[in-house]
Amino acid sequence: MRWSTLLLALLLAACGGGAGTPSGGSGAPALTVVATSTVFADMVRNVGGDRVAVTSLVPAGTDVHTYQAKPGDLRAVASADVIVMNGLGLDDWLDSTISAASAGAPVIRLAVDLPGVELLPGDEPGTQNPHLWLDVAHARRYAARIGEALATADPGGAPQYQATGAAYDARLADLDAWVRAQIATIAPMDRKFVTFHDALPYFARAYGLTVVGVAVEAPGQDPSAGEIAALIDAIRATAVKAIFSEDQFPTRLVDQIGRETGATVEADLFTDSLGADPVTSYEALIRWDVGQIVAALR
Ligand SMILES: [Zn+2]
Repeated sequence: MRWSTLLLALLLAACGGGAGTPSGGSGAPALTVVATSTVFADMVRNVGGDRVAVTSLVPAGTDVHTYQAKPGDLRAVASADVIVMNGLGLDDWLDSTISAASAGAPVIRLAVDLPGVELLPGDEPGTQNPHLWLDVAHARRYAARIGEALATADPGGAPQYQATGAAYDARLADLDAWVRAQIATIAPMDRKFVTFHDALPYFARAYGLTVVGVAVEAPGQDPSAGEIAALIDAIRATAVKAIFSEDQFPTRLVDQIGRETGATVEADLFTDSLGADPVTSYEALIRWDVGQIVAALR
């Protein structure tokens, strides 16, 4: 047993985890769902409606890549009916929490083995980039998978999940078309950018943009002086107009790169986490980010 797992098991014992499942009667939710990030929790809320009570383990504005599970997370996982995560390295820290909690609930890995999806490479050889949801077509696949999981766990709610899921899917289809129309207003030669971490390759592939470079290989890893110099050269060589970073990350590095290249720094994108109003849903996150990107590149 790894120390982290042992520690979590001790914390669970100390906290008396293992609460019961809601009965589903008299207005109580039929299912309790735990998701790793606020983005996935919002998708569950949209598909599950009032039959589902969903919480996110990682709070809004906190980095999901480097998150460390807390005792309360262990209780939440132990009492969940369905556990929703992304997989592909984004939130695999949850695996030790699940085993420490002896959680028996089905674990839905939204990004893993999604039919019709070609994965892009991750930061290490043999890994895949996990940020599929920032392509809205992939978010629709996530929502469909969530709907199937909810219906399996709560067959009595299947007609409702089907109806709310279909309405959500229609909104996401409209959102996908809206993104395309917005990106089309950027001159083709300006459809390129640099990001703090590699969150937008699926977004870029879907909507015809180019990611010229990233500032950090992965959250929590600082680049070497040589890597920063190479990125600055790439920005100058390709005349990239903007560097995007996210609300939950420090801006010192991208500010430095912006000063040296003259590129605009937009540090308030949202990718892995929802934020404060108005970025309180996945749909709002996409609209916010696209608005920032179009404003910076047009
Ligand atoms: Zn990320």
